[in-house]
Amino acid sequence: MSEIKKNIDNIIKQIPNTTKLVAVSKTHSIETIKETFDAGQRDFGENKVQEMVDKHNQLQNPEIKWHLIGHLQRNKVKYIADFVELIHSVDSLRLLTEINRQAKRHNRIINCLLQFHIADEDTKFGLNFDEAINILESDEFKSFGNIKICGVMGMATFTDNSEQVRHEFKKLKEIFSKIKDKYFKNLDYFCEISMGMSGDWKIAIEEGATILRIGSIIFGNRT
Ligand SMILES: *Cc1c(COP(=O)(O)O)cnc(C)c1O
Repeated sequence: MSEIKKNIDNIIKQIPNTTKLVAVSKTHSIETIKETFDAGQRDFGENKVQEMVDKHNQLQNPEIKWHLIGHLQRNKVKYIADFVELIHSVDSLRLLTEINRQAKRHNRIINCLLQFHIADEDTKFGLNFDEAINILESDEFKSFGNIKICGVMGMATFTDNSEQVRHEFKKLKEIFSKIKDKYFKNLDYFCEISMGMSGDWKIAIEEGATILRIGSIIFGNRT
């Protein structure tokens, strides 16, 4: 059995079968992605548009589901709009407007998550609660016909302090619940909490993650 398959199986056997594992393949080769696909993995995460587009074009595999997990600039939405499975990193109304526009051009509905800033670091993108409310309450948002908001995403602080990480994940879960209650109560598609990476996925599972985004412990360290 390949190392990659062993690593994936080891994670899968420790998570609920309703939890989705996104294999974060950024910086890794086409060959590595093929090997991972052959191991049964279907969801792949990339943080750069260009890299995701190149890999999508080279692989030409409609069974692969591509997740955009990194910061997305509005002028790049057009390159991924016809194939992206889920955009995890929506952090403004202007970005959503463009996603809706491009989704409409391709006659599809694009699944999105609202990214929240939960970490104790300036460098991580994301909304705060009030900003998200402003988006959800806006007439513009209500007019979008080609977007589905499926839940929330967040990145915890990069720290060994597991209590801090746990606290940040709890915060994201709370945000999810409040927004669910107020805007998506009977809408089953609003159900995703994307949190947990190689260093903190066990805590994320305990705190209610439904999607894990994991790279290093599947593929080894990026160089
Ligand atoms: C790179 C990345 C990950 C995966 O990180 P690992 O620590 O390698 O598991 C998850 N989420 C985002 C947004 C990333 O950019």
